[in-house]
Amino acid sequence: MRDGEPSFRESVDLMFNRAVRLMDLSPGLEQKIRVCNSTYTVRFGVRLRGKIETFTGYRSVHSEHMEPVKGGIRYALSVNQNEVEALAALMTYKCALVETPFGGSKGGLCIDPRAWEEHELELITRRFAYELIKRDLINPAQNVPAPDMGTGEREMAWIADQYKRMNTTDINGNACVTGKPPHAGGIQGRVEATGRGVQYALQEFFRHPEDKAKAGLTGGLEGKRVIVQGLGNVGYHAAKFLSEEDGCIITAIIERDGALQSDAGLNVEDVRHWMAKQGTIQGYPSASFVADGTPLLEAECDILIPAAMEGVIHMENAPRIKAPLIVEAANGPVTFGADEILREKGVVIIPDMYANAGGVTVSYFEWVKNLSHIRFGRMQRRAEEGRSRILVEELERLSADQGLGWTLSPDFKEKFLTGSDELALVRSGLDDTMRTAYQAMRKVWHERDDVDDLRTAAYIVSISRVATAYRSKAL
Ligand code: GLU
Repeated sequence: MRDGEPSFRESVDLMFNRAVRLMDLSPGLEQKIRVCNSTYTVRFGVRLRGKIETFTGYRSVHSEHMEPVKGGIRYALSVNQNEVEALAALMTYKCALVETPFGGSKGGLCIDPRAWEEHELELITRRFAYELIKRDLINPAQNVPAPDMGTGEREMAWIADQYKRMNTTDINGNACVTGKPPHAGGIQGRVEATGRGVQYALQEFFRHPEDKAKAGLTGGLEGKRVIVQGLGNVGYHAAKFLSEEDGCIITAIIERDGALQSDAGLNVEDVRHWMAKQGTIQGYPSASFVADGTPLLEAECDILIPAAMEGVIHMENAPRIKAPLIVEAANGPVTFGADEILREKGVVIIPDMYANAGGVTVSYFEWVKNLSHIRFGRMQRRAEEGRSRILVEELERLSADQGLGWTLSPDFKEKFLTGSDELALVRSGLDDTMRTAYQAMRKVWHERDDVDDLRTAAYIVSISRVATAYRSKAL
């Protein structure tokens, strides 16, 4: 926490309060929604390298207005209770905004995952999972974790396996965690889902000329200069898709060990390969390198994408930010104080709870797939294929009857009749979710005179949905 700034948890509450002041909620309900219901802390030992190592982990449940509650598990040395609670609260609002039927939760383990070998990480993960499973803090009906910073498919597969060992008669065991690899009950497209969601969020923003105008931007995404902070799972996929598919120019990538800059645009795939091979971005041949990358957050660009950590844009550097549009791919990258400064300056912020909701959206698809015990979308695809076939036959019959001579190209027929695979369904479901959520948010932004930013609009939409759920629930 920086001097004079509220903590992450307080920052989220201040943003919540700013929105709730504009709503008509009873003080009791307002308080019930704001507070974090519970946070479990566990300290456990694992015998490693000839001695017992003690680890501290958390699982926080912010709101159970819907169950299961949902949210990732983070592995980092900086993990602490305040952070986990802030992230759990953001999960509540995020799920409500994109209408995934979950409450909010988050977990974390204080560990540097790079300091341990794979088999050691497996022991630690299984041990941590054991503690959470015992207390129903991992359970398909109650609490469903997912990847976050420092964790991925591998850890989720271990967690699912640990749950199934401890609950051999639970036929829904696979649904106890999402973000699993496809061969272990996962779904296609989950790994890149958060980055894909960032891309869809920007595409949707750029469909609305009035919204772009608020940021002083015109035209499409093609040629827009983008700075990305963090080339982890989220930043990498967002930057890759935006540059390869939408024609954005990635002018800088800021990483923990420095930054790369290129006015002509960086090749994201190349940089990622370099990082994977060398363990650093330093020495990458086709760009200029600066050892201290943080000042680049303040460089000229059209779109700034903080995709690493919370609190990177704070009261000290916010006045110097030049980007007219910030997309919060990370959770909480802009502090409450910085948010006020940026709003004053007219910077448009696409808020975290919307911008990075792609991950939990596809997690929802995975959870549904696991519970239905059928390939995702298979039933609906069967029905669609049936309808498509009838349409094609009717068209061909009509053409023959009337002597119109219409023909459908074999390529078109093939695509139309064979429907779509799991990945295509996941993508279209995600795109649809991101469009719908944006429209709900922008309606409040444009229609209410007392709302002049997307974050407050997002909070208003989410809080009113959570409030509706609480009103019909016994407390
Ligand atoms: N950790 C991700 C997030 O912050 C994904 C959570 C999930 O899929 O449950 O949204």
